[in-house]
Amino acid sequence: MTSYLRTAGMRLTHERLVILKHICSLERNFTADRIVKDLCEQQHISTATIYNNLAMLCDAHILRLLPHRQQTGAQYELAIGDKHSLRYVCTQCGREVTFKNKAIEQLLLDRHFSNFEPDNFSLVVYGHCKTCRRKKKRD
Ligand SMILES: [Zn+2]
Repeated sequence: MTSYLRTAGMRLTHERLVILKHICSLERNFTADRIVKDLCEQQHISTATIYNNLAMLCDAHILRLLPHRQQTGAQYELAIGDKHSLRYVCTQCGREVTFKNKAIEQLLLDRHFSNFEPDNFSLVVYGHCKTCRRKKKRD
């Protein structure tokens, strides 16, 4: 964990290590509110420090900010060792499934943008999962 921070040229502050360690213990995606709720009281880390560190960890490509979803607010995920992210998201229940697709990844990697150099990408396909589609049919 410290090597990721060192590689990214980030200082090893106590707060930063506590935040990153906590993030690594969570499930794949998390909200800033969750980190604030978990660490503000327990570890006496201020809300501002948490938000600043989340932004810095995103800049360093250690975290990735996911596309905004109304029901949850801003969500993040660890981007370490996984520069690209492809997933389906059910807009009904929020269930997420990650998937691999070499063709899509290659298409995005080969794409040249004018005046823009991509670092990584996250593709989200929104829809309805099997369970929610079944429920909808029954209603
Ligand atoms: Zn669903």
